[in-house]
Amino acid sequence: MADTECACELFEQLEGAAAQAYTSQFLEKTDADEEADRTYYVCRICGRPWMRETIEGNRKQSLVRREMEFDV
Ligand SMILES: [Zn+2]
Repeated sequence: MADTECACELFEQLEGAAAQAYTSQFLEKTDADEEADRTYYVCRICGRPWMRETIEGNRKQSLVRREMEFDV
């Protein structure tokens, strides 16, 4: 297998099954905020930060790419 390339540059947001698949394939969990129901990840390939949250009401996972600079 050649190097696997991530698709972080191509997406800003993924939802549902696509979000779950992308998470398990490329992302590594770094932190979680249980109160806000958010989980933070970084891409194992390119290091971009992502955040996954559950959309209230429909239990759908939404994966959103974050800016490289942390906006705290
Ligand atoms: Zn990436």
